[in-house]
Amino acid sequence: MAEKLMNYIDGAWRESAGTGSMDVNNPASGERLAVTPFSMVAEVDQAAQAAAKAFESWRRMPATERIQYLFKLKTVMEEHFTDLARSITIENGKILSDASGEMRRAIENVETACGIPMMMLGDFSEDIARGIDEYMIRQPVGVVASICPFNFPGMIPFWFLPYALATGNTVIIKPSERTPLTMTKVFQLFEQVGFPPGVVNLVNGGADVVNAILDHPLIQGITFVGSTAVARHVYSRAALNGKRVQAQGGAKNPVFVLPDADPEMTTKIVIDSVYGNAGQRCLAAANIVMVADAAKTFKPLLAEAAQQLVVGFGLDQGVQMGPVITPQSRNRIEGLIQKGVDEGAKVLVEGRDAVIAGYENGNFLRPTILDNVKPGTAVATTEIFGPVMTLMNVETVDDAIQMVNRGKYGNMACVFTSSGAAARKFRNEAQAGNIGINIGVAAPMAFFPFSGWKESFFGTLHGQGKHAVEFFTQTKVVVERWLKEWSRQF
Ligand code: NAD
Repeated sequence: MAEKLMNYIDGAWRESAGTGSMDVNNPASGERLAVTPFSMVAEVDQAAQAAAKAFESWRRMPATERIQYLFKLKTVMEEHFTDLARSITIENGKILSDASGEMRRAIENVETACGIPMMMLGDFSEDIARGIDEYMIRQPVGVVASICPFNFPGMIPFWFLPYALATGNTVIIKPSERTPLTMTKVFQLFEQVGFPPGVVNLVNGGADVVNAILDHPLIQGITFVGSTAVARHVYSRAALNGKRVQAQGGAKNPVFVLPDADPEMTTKIVIDSVYGNAGQRCLAAANIVMVADAAKTFKPLLAEAAQQLVVGFGLDQGVQMGPVITPQSRNRIEGLIQKGVDEGAKVLVEGRDAVIAGYENGNFLRPTILDNVKPGTAVATTEIFGPVMTLMNVETVDDAIQMVNRGKYGNMACVFTSSGAAARKFRNEAQAGNIGINIGVAAPMAFFPFSGWKESFFGTLHGQGKHAVEFFTQTKVVVERWLKEWSRQF
């Protein structure tokens, strides 16, 4: 029987009292891997109480001591690197090299947060008036919680958690109910590291757990990554409850190919970006837009490369693209492809009804290309979150920039060209928070913020780096006077 996952609260593994649950299946084989319990509101309360209690001493521990836990965490994550990456492939479906890249970025965030003694430095100004000094110090906000999506089960919690802990907060993680296994493994590593009870807590579940987190008076800060509809809900409900919140949402990333782009490099990168993790990345290239007569060169190259991709189970040798997360997801994606056809698009490469030998129960599609997609149609504006490239055309770089700026999302926009002037104009004018110039997945390193704009992000401060440090600390300003007469003369 598949194992029912446990929560980790106050330094101990606890069975959830919730009666509802959800199966976690390997998306490539359909095999049942585990069962996610839908935890109860009372369990969120237990985690929040434990985290609030732990906060009292964790915040007082010098930052130089807190980061010793993170150094140790880095060591155990390196030791278990392959196991964690394999776990991602098994529960999420992405190929092992992508899963390894994901874990690498998670660890890079731990490494970056180890610099917290420098990043948390305050400011000091002497003599802001005669005999008066003023300074600003950063203090942790308290108990914080992260609500996570299915597509990066190992990395996304680490956009936040290392910074939250290093700055002195205590943490609750709510993984996606569809991919909770990797976080269970990570929490086993937290146990090895020996974080004091209550400093890190894991509560499994679905929307009820999320809403209990958003409403809990002891939880001061919320980070969310997921779809735009839920991001908006999380942002507004948490804000209504007086919490600080950052909520990263969905995307529909346009990528523009100019006729002067390097054919070989551009084709390879665009294909990787569209089909990596079967298109289930918030930085997946979605609309591939040919500028001027670029289609002449690039359309046949992209079609050929898409057809050649090897689809299968991500742990198998030579596989380049895995399945999508659930059968429902596959049906939704196939429905959107049909919608595109109904809207007038042409199927240039057909990926529906895929059957992969040995994995007949998997949720597979093959790479799909829809050509002649018109701006404003459903398939051009909806986040498909599957292995579907939609080919479009514009005449000029100005048209390209206008297309980015008309879009409701602003997660990423990319341009492929060998013209510095065109690239510079695009970088300067395109309204998206992550820009790729001859790059197909403009994923910021751990020390840069993950900068979504528009409906891809609700809030002010993003995940990772200095933004995370600011998000997880509140500033305290002290204005101070000491009269000379009060001092004993020595
Ligand atoms: P999702 O919004 O369905 O779920 C995310 C989290 O919200 C999960 O933990 C889930 O339990 C919870 N949730 C779902 N419905 C809820 C509801 N009605 N009320 C309260 N909580 C609810 O997202 P997903 O399908 O897991 O992830 C894919 C989405 O995430 C895509 O839209 C993708 O673009 C986005 N994403 C964005 C980024 C980014 O940085 N902007 C990164 C990764 C993924």
